[in-house]
Amino acid sequence: MNANYLCPICRSFLNVGDQIVISAKNKKGTKGILLFSIHLGNYEIKKHSCFDLDENENLSMFCPCCHKSLRHPKVHENIFKILMQDDEDHEYEILFSGIYGERCTYQINEEKVSSFGQDAGKYINFTNLINMS
Ligand SMILES: [Zn+2]
Repeated sequence: MNANYLCPICRSFLNVGDQIVISAKNKKGTKGILLFSIHLGNYEIKKHSCFDLDENENLSMFCPCCHKSLRHPKVHENIFKILMQDDEDHEYEILFSGIYGERCTYQINEEKVSSFGQDAGKYINFTNLINMS
């Protein structure tokens, strides 16, 4: 599938090649770039070796273009949101955990929620997912 990922605020494209580019900040306030796979359910994250992140660290994540926070506290304070457009121009909300090492992604459109990752059960709550938009 030829998907594109967008910032929900400025709608800049966030994907380059097979990666989604996200600006992040760790607990100590150090900033760095994270590269996520465009394939939902693939949790390989690339980063500079000097950008230290601990397992279970609560990250802040920002759009690399407009620098706005991608946090989506309507669902949960640990959840972040970007948009996805598939090759038929359907638009989805992609929600994912900002806890480093947590594997949890939700793909949402009006009709359905698909979840990915072994930790997906942690935040799923169909009441808050349906009420959020
Ligand atoms: Zn943006």
